[in-house]
Amino acid sequence: MRITDIRETSVALKSSLRNAVFDFSEMTTSVVAVVTDVVRDGKPVAGYAFNSTGRYACGAQMRARFVPRILGAKPESLANAAGDNLDPEKILAAMMQREKPGGHTERSIAIGTIEVAVWDAVAKIAGKPLHRVLAERYGGGKAPERVPCYVGGGWYEPGKGVRELQDEIRSRLDQGYRTMKIKVGGAAIPEDVKRVEAALKVVAGSDNLAVDANAGFDRERALAYGKALSPFRLRWFEEPTDPLAYELLAEVASIYDAPIGTGENLFSTQDVENLVRFGGLRTDRDIIQIDVPQSYGIVQFSRTLAMLERRGWQGKSIFPHGGNQMTLAIVGGFGLGGCEAYPGVFGIFAGFADDAKVEDGYLKLPDRPGIGFEAQNALYAVMKELSG
Ligand code: MG
Repeated sequence: MRITDIRETSVALKSSLRNAVFDFSEMTTSVVAVVTDVVRDGKPVAGYAFNSTGRYACGAQMRARFVPRILGAKPESLANAAGDNLDPEKILAAMMQREKPGGHTERSIAIGTIEVAVWDAVAKIAGKPLHRVLAERYGGGKAPERVPCYVGGGWYEPGKGVRELQDEIRSRLDQGYRTMKIKVGGAAIPEDVKRVEAALKVVAGSDNLAVDANAGFDRERALAYGKALSPFRLRWFEEPTDPLAYELLAEVASIYDAPIGTGENLFSTQDVENLVRFGGLRTDRDIIQIDVPQSYGIVQFSRTLAMLERRGWQGKSIFPHGGNQMTLAIVGGFGLGGCEAYPGVFGIFAGFADDAKVEDGYLKLPDRPGIGFEAQNALYAVMKELSG
């Protein structure tokens, strides 16, 4: 068995949203198809992935280095010991040949996206949903039926005031969600405090509201927001500082007693280890939000998790970034804290199976082989066209 081709394309997100730092008007993502010569239901199996949300397409690195390294390797060197499936660990190693240590984001997204597409193919070849494959390999075998799912929303949009924000939250609660995350930092502090107070009037309690500053604050503003938001005891305060400003993050944590969330803009095991060693984070409340396809993929994520466990962190404190089916499978397979969702935004790349239903804040894991993109019609049309 072998990989016969790896194809990629860049697709625009076409979003009018804005957070505290930037707008999404130019945002793109890379869609990848890993085509194999294994036949299921009369067709060659192809695995798919895209590079999650918030980082631009990275086809140039894929085309120049990572795809040729995989296609140039001996097929048997990329297969598992039984020779009946691909081995993602070996494929990751093949992509990492002749790569200099450090400087992770230049390659971690391109490699991680291809790696997750490989896992989709692996699960399809095994005839199992990806979360079950991951649970068998990494999680002691048992995958849950459903996982907690919260909404990442509350973006700044032209003409959107407090009332529209409340309407947005109400519509998500009506869809079955319980916990909402809204953006902060795109307005002055008094206005953002008003937005938080308005949001708290709609959700069931402060435990059901998180805020996200998107790493946009300098020291003065990070500390001022910490002081202003502290009394609300929110579910978490996300990215109050630059992702690598560990000393400042520790300073914020020293004045902000409620949970802090961060990690979606760290792309290596070492960076996450530095975060938990030097960022002042607390294992009993804070949360870590690695984006798996952007951070070398699932094999490397399992190594990051092992490091976190050694340092006293539990899976329930990990809420991977990215409201999509890849993250859903990873949360279920590794038994993590929960999954994000972006209903109605980021076009065809947002959300889950077209018929997915959220009940009481939980999302059921899909029961179809692979990641389950086949149940997302608009996205799958792009993927299928790519694999031919
Ligand atoms: Mg965020």
